[in-house]
Amino acid sequence: MSTSLALILNCGSSSLKFSVINPVYNKTVLSGIVDFSRSLHAKISWKIDNKTYSSDILNKTVNYEEIISFISNNILKNDLNIFKNISCIGHRVVHGGSKINKSVIVNSKVIKYIKDASLFAPLHNPINLLGIQASFNVFPNLKKKNVAVFDTAFHSTMPKTSYLYAIPYSFYKHYGIRRYGAHGISYTYIVSRVSKILKISVDNLNVIICHLGNGASVAAIRDGICVDTSMGLTPLEGLVMGTRSGDIDPSIIFFMYNKLKMSIDDIEDTLIRKSGLLGLNEFSNDCRDLEKEYVSNNKIKLSIDIFCHRLSKYISAYTSLMEGKLDAIIFSGGIGENSCLIRSITVSKLSLLNCKIDKTVNLSMKLGREGFINKRNSMMILVIPTNEELVIAKEAILLTSNS
Ligand code: ADP
Repeated sequence: MSTSLALILNCGSSSLKFSVINPVYNKTVLSGIVDFSRSLHAKISWKIDNKTYSSDILNKTVNYEEIISFISNNILKNDLNIFKNISCIGHRVVHGGSKINKSVIVNSKVIKYIKDASLFAPLHNPINLLGIQASFNVFPNLKKKNVAVFDTAFHSTMPKTSYLYAIPYSFYKHYGIRRYGAHGISYTYIVSRVSKILKISVDNLNVIICHLGNGASVAAIRDGICVDTSMGLTPLEGLVMGTRSGDIDPSIIFFMYNKLKMSIDDIEDTLIRKSGLLGLNEFSNDCRDLEKEYVSNNKIKLSIDIFCHRLSKYISAYTSLMEGKLDAIIFSGGIGENSCLIRSITVSKLSLLNCKIDKTVNLSMKLGREGFINKRNSMMILVIPTNEELVIAKEAILLTSNS
């Protein structure tokens, strides 16, 4: 077995996910999560050889260097066979801005570009940078083996007709205001996976992929490349999400500001954290809670129906970009992989595309299962659990193996 392993770090504001992957064998050697969403006491749990462990690691403000040191000293170094074979570190970075459209080894120039793009991802890029800096300090021997993999990179193939906003061109020219998309690492995995399942080369693949998690987006892939996606300058545009509004008339912002005298920070907080499914049903953004109440609670039903309405509208619109070729529609992400209700309502609105769902199979498709959920005489519809870590690991090993 090849022994080159990649350590993957996905640093977010409420959690840090980590894993060690052997990309040659698509094997996750260990994986874990540090959850600091609920209190200042970060709780770490990890899985190795199918055994799970957990520990409280902090009593004070979250500090990424401390967390990564804990991972190194208390988890990785406990198994020297793993520790000594880690040859690179892959970081998930949300926004590459206008300067970066592929995975890169991190150097000072890359750090500057990630900082510059923080303007478009203020909740994510600064934290991604903290993770990178912390891993430089904790793993000094691997300093030149840190690779940044970007969620925007996959969408760099979009044509201007998709990525330009109809606002004065100078905003694009001088400030890079355009649509960049997100979830690109997940789309990269799904394109490669669906190409294998359908036995169609990536170059000839025509699919519409729905990545539905807390953040949700759709992408139209023509001849293997992205031609449009629903997220925009930031991950706020597009579909109804857990707590994000997705598309709204920008005039609502003027109303909030002028008439309601809300501050810009309050408006931002409302559209990012208090809208979407949660804003509509005033109960929860978690589909697991919502599915249970769909039949009995009108507000919850309405929020899910609006989610599916917007999603089916995007899917239908994207068929106009496919030049008459559509091989399959794919569902992924926490909701796409698990919510048979959302899949079934959405697909029921796509009869013009000859989409017919197999109810029994759809019901059983959850918790990591992969496969078709369509009837025999229907457009192909698949559920594919995403694997972003594997994509990051492959990119990290590829870029660092000869450096
Ligand atoms: P993100 O990475 O954007 O934070 P995920 O892709 O992990 O989100 O998706 C999380 C969401 O997936 C949860 O909020 C929940 O709505 C949904 N989800 C997870 N498991 C299930 C399930 N078994 N049934 C229905 N929905 C689920």
